[in-house]
Amino acid sequence: MYERAEARIDVGALRHNCRVLRGLIGPGVELSPVLKADGYGHGVAHCAEAAISAGSDRIAVATAREALQIRAVDADVPILVLGALTPGEVEVAVTARADVSIWDPDFIQAIENQAEAAGRVVGVHVKYDTGMGRLGNLDPDVVVAMTRSIAASPHLSLEAVWTHFATADEPNRDFMDLQRRRLTELARRVRSEFPGIKVHAANSAALICDPASHFDLVRPGVAIYGMDPFGRDPADHNLRPVFSFHSYVATVKRFEPGMSAGYGRTWTAGEPTTVVTVPVGYGDGLRRSLSNRGEVLIGGRRHPIAGTVSMDNITVDVGDARPVIGDEVTLLGSQGEESILAERMAADLKTINYEITCGISPRVPRVMVGETA
Ligand SMILES: *Cc1c(COP(=O)(O)O)cnc(C)c1O
Repeated sequence: MYERAEARIDVGALRHNCRVLRGLIGPGVELSPVLKADGYGHGVAHCAEAAISAGSDRIAVATAREALQIRAVDADVPILVLGALTPGEVEVAVTARADVSIWDPDFIQAIENQAEAAGRVVGVHVKYDTGMGRLGNLDPDVVVAMTRSIAASPHLSLEAVWTHFATADEPNRDFMDLQRRRLTELARRVRSEFPGIKVHAANSAALICDPASHFDLVRPGVAIYGMDPFGRDPADHNLRPVFSFHSYVATVKRFEPGMSAGYGRTWTAGEPTTVVTVPVGYGDGLRRSLSNRGEVLIGGRRHPIAGTVSMDNITVDVGDARPVIGDEVTLLGSQGEESILAERMAADLKTINYEITCGISPRVPRVMVGETA
């Protein structure tokens, strides 16, 4: 290990996950992995390369700046921006030769202006809000009218109508079914006029649990990174974690009863034990709520974080183990038979796996590992 803490990004696992997901969809369905938020914290450039080399048809992102990041990696891959754009961001998205999402009829003109100025035709995906209650247009008649205006514009190309599910990761399917039926009904209307238009809805959870949601294109995010959209073990769906997070043992100390570790003396040794310091902390995105709660792996064994997580260090009670300075410490990932999944850390923190990898801070270098072909 070269630096004090590093995230290892297994691009071979990412390619494996893309192929597993590809195997779940029909041959005519496009695979469009979502590489927003720096690839869910994994580092966007190497993840984009891996996803493209695994045969993705297009890449989806949330922002215009992210579209530029993808364009820097690949000159040709189709890109779709899913999120809201300011007029300035529309210009950036057009420069990146990305398709954009819109839901407000008043926004059509802004896209047309940018497209005309750039001298190119911009692909547009019209978003229908079937129940997420966030972005998208609630009125199917307005969505249909928008598809007509877009199709009539010489500067725009009508690519798709789409929606996003609010509850695809939940066992009760009622609301997801309602959203899917709304989209299916809209698709029927729009396709009668524009038979070539694409329809899309599925995130990772929908892709895995509901083939009827696949339509013409799927947008898996969390699953391509080998995390489980349902918060359980990714191995249940043959997904392999891409992200692992490591540091090392920087000091080893023998503690007598009554000695404390860390700020506020929140942990005190009850009996003789060994405490190691690992130079990683909340400045690296290891959340402070893991104080006296989380676990790490050292020498293939689980050991509890003892005391308060500080900005640059944690202390770990290793009991009767005898680690030496320089031993690897795994905060996420596996050592031998033991592993700490993002799903497990998320449960400890009452959050979701998505937030775990997104939360590891830019101070932690992302190092690419795994077969590269
Ligand atoms: C983030 C996102 C996705 C991917 O969701 P996952 O749950 O990570 O698969 C798909 N579609 C939209 C609109 C998104 O914002």
